[in-house]
Amino acid sequence: MTTAIENVRVFDGSAMSEPRRVVFGESVFADDAAVADAVVDAAGGVLLPGLIDAHVHTVRGRADLEDLARWGVTTGLDMGAWPLAFVDDMRRQKGVAQILSATIPAVGSGGHHARMPGFPAEGIVNNPDEARAFVGRRVADGADYVKIVTEAAPPEGMDQATVNALVQAAHEHGLLVVAHSVTTGAFRVAVESGVDVSMHAPLDAVLDDDTIARMREIGMVSVPTLTMMEGTANLFAAAGFRYEYARDTVTAFHDAGIRVLAGTDANSAAGAPFAPNHGESLHHELDLLVAAGLTRIEALASATSSPAQVFGLGGRGAIAAGLRADLLLVDGDPASGGTRNIAGVWIAGDRVR
Ligand SMILES: [Zn+2]
Repeated sequence: MTTAIENVRVFDGSAMSEPRRVVFGESVFADDAAVADAVVDAAGGVLLPGLIDAHVHTVRGRADLEDLARWGVTTGLDMGAWPLAFVDDMRRQKGVAQILSATIPAVGSGGHHARMPGFPAEGIVNNPDEARAFVGRRVADGADYVKIVTEAAPPEGMDQATVNALVQAAHEHGLLVVAHSVTTGAFRVAVESGVDVSMHAPLDAVLDDDTIARMREIGMVSVPTLTMMEGTANLFAAAGFRYEYARDTVTAFHDAGIRVLAGTDANSAAGAPFAPNHGESLHHELDLLVAAGLTRIEALASATSSPAQVFGLGGRGAIAAGLRADLLLVDGDPASGGTRNIAGVWIAGDRVR
């Protein structure tokens, strides 16, 4: 099955092309004049690479991946799923969003995560020796990156030496490290250890300038999951958590030139404070990122070309000859009107919406 989309502007990761024709089977053809089985007139709409949500959880199974796909999210970076047989099964699903996974995250024994129903004991890490053993198990599991939950200090979370050991061991194995941090204290622990990507944004205060400058210096990337911070702040307002702290931190990241990626924390996990919908929530996240100071074009890059670069997802986040045809067709102009007017979604060239 081959498809031609005519009269379509193509987003190349930083700008839209003039209206043209795009032809694809399982991957995008070099010859855009090729004859196709199906022809779609885009009427001047925009073709985006399938979106990438840089923070999801796969809990319900294939239904989560179907919801992602329906909303044009063709790749999800899972930030904690188990057991391994389930993760491997989800990685092999066809015709839906594809996932990569951290498998089991590392958490301190005193924190909230260690008490979430069904959290596996092998994710609890208390000292540098256990940290190295934990990373060894993730490597054996085929984890695509290592996820750490940082807290300000024990007894809630792991101490600095343990977090440092996790990062060092993961880097020795060539794995990227992402750190969950929802308070300024947890951010400082993550930054001190040299993690590659911070997940979430602080809800207790705007992150201080020195920590932001350090992040810039070491090339840290942020996935602020503003959708999750908004939902969580509303639930825990009595504890002094405020969404504005997370939003203003993102504005400061943007001003400092720190790369920001779109991620939602979409989940349906028992014990999670808030559960963004799979797929739909990424469009909300893009709106929140724009409200925090990203341009619409920067927001589109934060869900396409940028996560592909950071996470080394070769062949994703772009539309070019030979790349897998994971595509999202949007009516109108997403650079002004956003991405919700979905006119079609293709996964490896098969139309799923
Ligand atoms: Zn999460």
